[in-house]
Amino acid sequence: MKIILDFDHTLFDTPRLKRAVESVFLKHGVSHDLFLRTLEQSKGEGRDWKPERQFAILKSRGVPHVDSIKDDFVQVLHGSHVFLYEDTLPFLEKISKDNSLALLTYGEDSFQNMKLEGCGRATKYFKKIVITQNIYKDKEANDLSGGAKSLFVDDNPTALSATKQYAPHIVTVRIKRGEGRYENEPSSGGIDYEVKGLGEVEDLISRL
Ligand SMILES: [Mg+2]
Repeated sequence: MKIILDFDHTLFDTPRLKRAVESVFLKHGVSHDLFLRTLEQSKGEGRDWKPERQFAILKSRGVPHVDSIKDDFVQVLHGSHVFLYEDTLPFLEKISKDNSLALLTYGEDSFQNMKLEGCGRATKYFKKIVITQNIYKDKEANDLSGGAKSLFVDDNPTALSATKQYAPHIVTVRIKRGEGRYENEPSSGGIDYEVKGLGEVEDLISRL
């Protein structure tokens, strides 16, 4: 079976990365408030954090040490595998034996690539990796499925609903780990299963 997996909040503890990055900013004298405000500004029209843009905003305001913040930020990202959830690697190793894995992640290319590059021990299990700026992921998930029976695991209920509508043959699984941006958004239509962790996805795969 094809298994399509989201990255942030599904395999990767993005809130923990955010806290680690914030501590870099704080170390160099950027306040919690300024960090959050410029992070929000970096999103522009989109919903995703764009660190490069955030650095540019800080520089344009004359904030000192931005280059040092950037250097330390890059170091944090180099070791980003420490932010993988505990169940991620065992899960990937197990299911990759009998299934074809694809990663489908939403966000800015350069930031997503940096995160993924630090997670080589996870990304090696994927036959395909797609970074998209389409928050709904519907067409991309359909392409990755190749029309075959597939499972799509994501924490974002909107992406799952849109995918189900566009590609009804895809089994949609919402992962709710108890934190994350979409945690309090209700499940809308088109979600086949809801799980709390990847162990449950493993059980699901063996039953389908
Ligand atoms: Mg996600």
